[in-house]
Amino acid sequence: MAIANFEEKFIKYAELVVKIGLNVQSGQKMIVRAETNTAPLVREITAIAYQIGSPLVTIIWVDEQVKKIRHQYAPRDSFDEYASWVLDGIAQEIKEGAAFLQVASPDPELLKGMDPEAVSTSRSVFAKHRKPIGELQGQNAVQWTVICPPTLDWAKHVFPEADMDAALESLWENVFTLCRLDQDDPVALWQKHIADLDERRKALTKKAYTGLHLRAPGTDLRLGLPAGHIWAGGGGKSSKGYPFVANIPTEEVFTLPHKDQTEGMVSSTRPLSYYGNMIENFSLTFSKGKVVKLSAEKGEDVLREMVETDGTAGFLGEVALLPHQSPISQSNIVFLNSLYDENASCHLALGSAYKFNLEGGPAMSNEEFAEVGGNTSLIHVDFMFGSGELDVDGIRADGTTEPVMRAGEWAFDL
Ligand code: ZN
Ligand code: ZN
Repeated sequence: MAIANFEEKFIKYAELVVKIGLNVQSGQKMIVRAETNTAPLVREITAIAYQIGSPLVTIIWVDEQVKKIRHQYAPRDSFDEYASWVLDGIAQEIKEGAAFLQVASPDPELLKGMDPEAVSTSRSVFAKHRKPIGELQGQNAVQWTVICPPTLDWAKHVFPEADMDAALESLWENVFTLCRLDQDDPVALWQKHIADLDERRKALTKKAYTGLHLRAPGTDLRLGLPAGHIWAGGGGKSSKGYPFVANIPTEEVFTLPHKDQTEGMVSSTRPLSYYGNMIENFSLTFSKGKVVKLSAEKGEDVLREMVETDGTAGFLGEVALLPHQSPISQSNIVFLNSLYDENASCHLALGSAYKFNLEGGPAMSNEEFAEVGGNTSLIHVDFMFGSGELDVDGIRADGTTEPVMRAGEWAFDL
């Protein structure tokens, strides 16, 4: 790798994940679900976790080429088979207090050209079996973190013109910059960044808007915000009170929209890779909270299937705001990976809302949560609608509005 001080930045990355992302405590176990193509980083992370006193780091390895091989060769009627004990085991570790790390950087077109029915079946079977883990994450039961380190199969799609080595190098260089790892003391920088996001989210929570109005070319959307909604962002807190950062990098503040109050149209501003298939230049029209019309220049079938995953996949579960001037959007790269692309742009998520975004939410049953406007679904898929042309208004209880964002930037001071 021709990157200056690669080894040093690589170790800082692993440190950032263990100390700021997961904030693993001495005596706390760790459970990791990781792709085999990220093994060198996972080994480094494991070493650091043991050094700070974790008594056991368990890695569940998965391999995306094996996933592709299944789609190529397995019997066509076999895609509802799933070894559920694997995900049940992860959920069990989380329930027993282990910090949870997910390391995956999917090839954005891994399953391109595969039998769509098999892809859709295996996707929804996976989502069904993963549900208990998603619910534990939604309650912040333990510290949890998602990271996507560069891999060759991913880099090829981001820099298709470059040769393989150069593509991988460019991706590493960008990830180091976006994670602030090219600077002297990333852990200290992150503490400051998280504190800034925390101030922004607190200010928005205090405003207690009843809704938001989003306007940009191709977008004119009104969202309701339920009473008691909480803006989150930067760091979360586990049920035991340990601060952690769920996404590295992260630039967003976000809350839950009222699931039944979305009206109007929104257009995507970045492509979306969904389970190994691309969806591009798409629009969704909502009425009474639900997607009633959709179109996409590419991947319309995949989008339709996604929205029809279950009865609630066509409702919103998240609205996230971040300035257009964020480091990730300034990189001007389309990463084809939601962790980076969603932190480059204001986004919405179809599907489940996070219960921690609502006062008293984590203690609610799904029925109670739905009653006050919280959506629960098998999916949670972020898609990007932000741009330098986006205006956002906050709607107050008396119906008057005030600017929240203008031309993609924050329009209120802290
Ligand atoms: Zn988000
Ligand atoms: Zn999301």
